[in-house]
Amino acid sequence: MRPELSTLIRLQGIDLEIRKLGLEKDELPDRFNALKELMAEKDAEIAELKEKLADIRTRKTEVEDELELESERLKKSQQKMSSVKNSREYQALSKEIEEIKKSNKAREDEILKLDEEIDELKAQVKEKGKEVEKLKKEMAAEKKRISKAGKEMDKKIAALTAERDEVAKEVKPDLMARYRFLAEKRAGIVVAAVDEGVCSACNMNIPPQMYNDLLRDEKLLFCPSCQRIIYALKV
Ligand SMILES: [Zn+2]
Repeated sequence: MRPELSTLIRLQGIDLEIRKLGLEKDELPDRFNALKELMAEKDAEIAELKEKLADIRTRKTEVEDELELESERLKKSQQKMSSVKNSREYQALSKEIEEIKKSNKAREDEILKLDEEIDELKAQVKEKGKEVEKLKKEMAAEKKRISKAGKEMDKKIAALTAERDEVAKEVKPDLMARYRFLAEKRAGIVVAAVDEGVCSACNMNIPPQMYNDLLRDEKLLFCPSCQRIIYALKV
């Protein structure tokens, strides 16, 4: 293999590694961001539960006030009983008293039911609060991990970049320019092996004459389809 070709292959290997680390670094905050989204959801759920709780408490106060007023009215009606003058009046008052008692019983039942709902909602708020605390801890741990892993990746990238710059010095400027151009266009894969006349990068056939030239390994050749620098895979 021509020496400039093996240098380019080394260069490509390092560049691909740098590229891979860069992508991994970009993905580092993914989990943190997912946790953050989850946290926002939980916060919204808690706010909704608290709103419901406030509505139910308002309703409970209303019913309690009604119960108090109606209990007063009941007392007065019961007091009136001692001074009824005839059976018609007695019946009317009895009916009124029974109705108030019935309504108040319904109010008491509703208050009990509202108390149950309040307890249930309070339990839900508490439960969600615990989930939020757990998420906060996870997020803090994740932040630490991101920072640590990011620093390690930066170190690796810096070392690889230094190594890369050393290797790049061995490449002639015009070839380097071509390498850079292709690396940009072809996602970092610049040098491709040709196996039995087929470019391994783009899977297109190399013309037979060019393939013969490639086997002789006398000069640099480029794939006519993808323009990558090619070499014959020797078996
Ligand atoms: Zn090709």
